[in-house]
Amino acid sequence: MQTNLADFIRDTPAGREADAILRSCVHCGFCTATCPTFQLLGDELDSPRGRIYLIKQMLEGEPVSETTQLHLDRCLGCRSCETTCPSGVKYHRLLEIGREVVEQRVPRSLAARATRFLLCEALPRNWIFRPAVRVGQLMRPLLPRVLADKVPTAAPGGARPWPRPAGHRRRMVALAGCVQPTLTPNTNAATARVLDRLGVDLVEVPGAACCGALRYHLHAQEKALDDMRQVIDAWWPEVESGRVEAFVMTASGCGEHVRAYGELLQHDPAYAAKAARIAQMTRDASEILAGERERLVELLRVAGGGSDQRVAFHSPCTLQHAQKIRGVVESLLAAAGFQLSPVAEPHLCCGSAGTYSISQPVLATQLRDNKLAAMNAGGPAFLVTANIGCQTHLQSGSALPVRHWIELIDERLGMAS
Ligand code: SF4
Ligand code: SF4
Repeated sequence: MQTNLADFIRDTPAGREADAILRSCVHCGFCTATCPTFQLLGDELDSPRGRIYLIKQMLEGEPVSETTQLHLDRCLGCRSCETTCPSGVKYHRLLEIGREVVEQRVPRSLAARATRFLLCEALPRNWIFRPAVRVGQLMRPLLPRVLADKVPTAAPGGARPWPRPAGHRRRMVALAGCVQPTLTPNTNAATARVLDRLGVDLVEVPGAACCGALRYHLHAQEKALDDMRQVIDAWWPEVESGRVEAFVMTASGCGEHVRAYGELLQHDPAYAAKAARIAQMTRDASEILAGERERLVELLRVAGGGSDQRVAFHSPCTLQHAQKIRGVVESLLAAAGFQLSPVAEPHLCCGSAGTYSISQPVLATQLRDNKLAAMNAGGPAFLVTANIGCQTHLQSGSALPVRHWIELIDERLGMAS
């Protein structure tokens, strides 16, 4: 695609990056076929190709309006289009650059700014988020349906303790995360129990909480970079000690973001090298278990094998499209004796997408209900996923429990106390 970027951005790092991305798009439109918002709305401007065109116009100096903002806001950032694109267009980076320009040019309403402020300040802080959730849960019966649906329910399966430190020779570090310790505290504990059986100590390091993805996607870039630096400061002594083998992500949304630390902090001389090193040591929990598959399968065999229980797995966009981890969780669940119930159009987003379910509730609910219908079609006993955002969003519309896949492996190993 030919480009002629305007003076305000042409010779900046963002401008050069955007220019290269725009030029790589051949406008073929293959990506529209797998875009969830185009599928729902049928408007070219709600497709990847349409949004690329809107961003191009904006970066070439054409006026930016609320229409541009609307169509970019409706994008889930799911990256399904990147999986489909035959030309390797880095759509997500172009979207980030485009959104930043829109934020500077098109003012948002007071209500929208207040909501963003609240999300930015409350969600990453456990001491605000945890009591707010508890109050919401107590008040749920009194709330109107639309608000009650937004209050997360207690995690199915409850929370079980971490294993006692066994002093294994191998050590890995898990990210605690921001909302996960409140909403699904069993996820990291289950991971620790499974890894303990595999001869690995899993620990959380105090000070490493929110990975920064939340504020980054709410256009609070500087605050997000501070969150990332805080995680790096907390983890760096572990790297220096040489004891830690990997940083383990149990939420694929965080995994995608921590894996991008090197890129996101590349212009910060104090943190660039550390960020790149940590990104390189980051693994999704499924990759860790796949690396231990032989031993895991043996443990599962000794534990008594499976019961052929049917489960439907939703692979989060951050796992399948961003981290390109496909089929790994499914294969681990199958190894644990679960029968995977087929899910139609598995590439489609469930509508969670960070804070999308709050900023675009109508589209998010449609996507959630479509995903639940696809997951329930095969009559599963459980719904399973790999990211806290998807888990709570799907649970808000599901009568069946929505679990993290690692909990199923943990329970199948027969270690839960
Ligand atoms: S992003 Fe890729 S698939 Fe979509 S129009 Fe451009 S080249 Fe084609
Ligand atoms: S990121 Fe997802 S919603 Fe956005 S344009 Fe690409 S496929 Fe569509």
